[in-house]
Amino acid sequence: MALIVQKYGGTSVGTPERIKNVARRVAKFKAQGHDVVVVVSAMSGETNRLIALAKEVQANPDPRELDVVISTGEQVTIGLLAMALKDAGIEAKSYTGAQVKVLTDSFFTKARIQSIDDVPMRADLAAGRVVIVAGFQGVDAEGNITTLGRGGSDTSGVALAAALKADECQIYTDVDGVYTTDPRVVPEAKKLKTITFEEMLEMASLGSKVLQIRSVEFAGKYNVKLRVLSSFQEEGEGTLITFEEDPNMEKPVVSGIAFNRDEARVNVTGVPDKPGIAYQILGPVADANIDVDMIIQNVGQDGTTDFSFTVPKNDLARTIKVLEGVQAHIGAKRIDGDDKICKVSIVGVGMRSHVGVASTMFRTLAEEGINIQMISTSEIKISVIVDEKYLELAVRVLHKAFGLDQA
Ligand code: ASP
Ligand code: MG
Repeated sequence: MALIVQKYGGTSVGTPERIKNVARRVAKFKAQGHDVVVVVSAMSGETNRLIALAKEVQANPDPRELDVVISTGEQVTIGLLAMALKDAGIEAKSYTGAQVKVLTDSFFTKARIQSIDDVPMRADLAAGRVVIVAGFQGVDAEGNITTLGRGGSDTSGVALAAALKADECQIYTDVDGVYTTDPRVVPEAKKLKTITFEEMLEMASLGSKVLQIRSVEFAGKYNVKLRVLSSFQEEGEGTLITFEEDPNMEKPVVSGIAFNRDEARVNVTGVPDKPGIAYQILGPVADANIDVDMIIQNVGQDGTTDFSFTVPKNDLARTIKVLEGVQAHIGAKRIDGDDKICKVSIVGVGMRSHVGVASTMFRTLAEEGINIQMISTSEIKISVIVDEKYLELAVRVLHKAFGLDQA
């Protein structure tokens, strides 16, 4: 007998029929003698609908009140799922984030979990009940409702699994696991049986949407055994996120390819090449709460240098405005941006022990005439910025070059 936390995403609970299906799956695990805690998202499309609704009333919604509105989606699902379980003769009890006491900080719309009270849930489990918890939401020390950021139910699931010291956290979604890359771009993409925690972290931060990045960080920090599975298939092992590399397995050098269409490049040209320049450029950008990703500064020539970095596409206009405000002070010749770019990354712990991975990547792109605008590397990943019109092509040829389409 095990304690299992199961998280079901929006599409898995998107209709009454699907909610009943989730109840059937939960019932199956109960019948095997397991204790089950279920975390659910809002029904698919619901959070978007609630955000749009809020914006119709207030163009820039008040963050506290926005959380009051958008947290209701999950509250509907927990009630419906509890009903479906009871209808199937299974004792169940629903909890909002505040009722469990998922305590968070007070950063509305992107709050972080600080602690979870596991005592009431344990009492329910001991009494044979299925516990159903609303994902995505918590409560701050003052009793305000908070939400955890888009996709935050994954984090709720993992955090609950950590708090309850669950044997496994199962994330049920509309795909049957983590793939070598997005199958919509490369139909030959293969499902991975396992992926290491570090690789998953890179994949999530580089654009793979399977898991919210914070949920992966949480799983790493608290050693939560995490598995991604499909809620639409009866069987299947999904993808297990592992903590160690399996020493018996010949790991491929590259495990997956991630991409992100959501970045834009900013160029600051002709800045004086002297100490403090990076700070003078990036300081105001950070103060404006804009996330900077890749950064490149060239070798100076004739006392000046060029500086480029990437920001989320949505923030490009604002970034340029911020920089124009300090342009004279910095002494930059020109500031411009390009939002027609994308980032393509190869990820794999096998890179640590192999040479020539970067050159294979660059040769493959060169053979297709794809120009690389920026490069950044870590121990287990290489990312390049290329023209967005080459995204599909780049992902496809790299997928092939690293042998990922072979089973
Ligand atoms: N319902 C929230 C969203 O759509 C949280 C989640 O589904 O994970 O972002
Ligand atoms: Mg999700």
